Amino acid sequence: MINEAMYARGAESSKIREIFTFACERKQQIGADKVFDFSLGNPSIPAPDSVRASIEASLASVPPGELHGYTAAPGAPQVRATIADSLNRRFGTSYQGVDVFMTVGAAASVSCALHALTTPGEEVIVVSPYFPEYKVWIETCGCTCVEAPAKPDTFRLSVGSILKAITPQTAAIIVNSPNNPTGAIYAREVLERLANILHEVNAEREQPIFLIADEPYRELTYGDEVPWIPSIYEHTVVCYSYSKSLSLAGERIGWVLVPPACHESARVMAAVAGSARALGFVCAPSLFQRVVADCVDEPTDVAAYDRNRRTLMNALGDMGYTFVAPQGAFYLWVRALEKDAEAFCERAKRYELLPVPSDSFGAPGWVRIGYCVSYETIVNSLPAWRALMESYR
Ligand code: PLP
Repeated sequence: MINEAMYARGAESSKIREIFTFACERKQQIGADKVFDFSLGNPSIPAPDSVRASIEASLASVPPGELHGYTAAPGAPQVRATIADSLNRRFGTSYQGVDVFMTVGAAASVSCALHALTTPGEEVIVVSPYFPEYKVWIETCGCTCVEAPAKPDTFRLSVGSILKAITPQTAAIIVNSPNNPTGAIYAREVLERLANILHEVNAEREQPIFLIADEPYRELTYGDEVPWIPSIYEHTVVCYSYSKSLSLAGERIGWVLVPPACHESARVMAAVAGSARALGFVCAPSLFQRVVADCVDEPTDVAAYDRNRRTLMNALGDMGYTFVAPQGAFYLWVRALEKDAEAFCERAKRYELLPVPSDSFGAPGWVRIGYCVSYETIVNSLPAWRALMESYR
């Protein structure tokens, strides 16, 4: 019998993908340069030269059987150790390779972490607006996705709203900073306040509430510090990928870190491995495990995203749009010009503008502009944004 829940997931697809598909069709009809597709978070800057150099070096020197063969399920030991060493240099920690589990991107990292840290019937808190796939992944674990709204207008983390959302069924909280879709970075003081409150709540519980820090945008920042959350709250599992930082989104490579200070860390790590096994991931791509180890300290060049960000903010601000100034990632969160963000996006289509309405992110009345596009796309879209604004006057 076909699984109805899975059928529904496949048949409905995500709003982001739906708009992306529409954009591809529209580009065929009227020409790619006339469609302003701001839907997908696909990095627009190429992977750094060191990625190509690493691939070429592996192709030249590693025996084919080894190069394309399976690695151990958690990843190649030297790759895991290299990643742990890099984290230790950056954050003053003392992780080891065994604390790192290589995965097929952050989607797999978060899915494995969720499966490892929850049992059906429990609840996972997300800060809304949130990356829509969280709800899918949480519900696939048989859990309920509980929304804790961020602060209105600034979209900073609201410790009060998280506290309100906590129940005896709460297993974990997903924290995503820098944030998709708002670009907010959660400040150290706020995370410390959250940690203090969780410690108080944990005192009444058998098992602590886990934080799942989903950090694919960690390196995409415009000046602010991104605090290392396990140093603030010990029961934090970190999920990372190189999709954005090395522009390797299609190569599917990332990791889960279970710090030793985390509650029952050895059992949590075994459960992450069990989740990857149960979900059929087998191992992360072996060639790209080598690549990310070779490029582990490669800085992310955010200059192009920053130019897009500034250009959009200046121009849309002058036109009268309101938005949240993004501190990180590559999304601009803009207030729709009418209450119904879907209707606003339908009207934007008349001008070939394709942002994503906020409803599937769990917050009405806004849109997300993915500015991980070419600078020309940003500049050429500005008259359309102006015309859209004028259509509401
Ligand atoms: N988490 C967030 C917040 C994201 O924005 C994305 C992708 O856009 C993912 C996870 C999934 O990342 P990956 O492509 O590495 O699976």
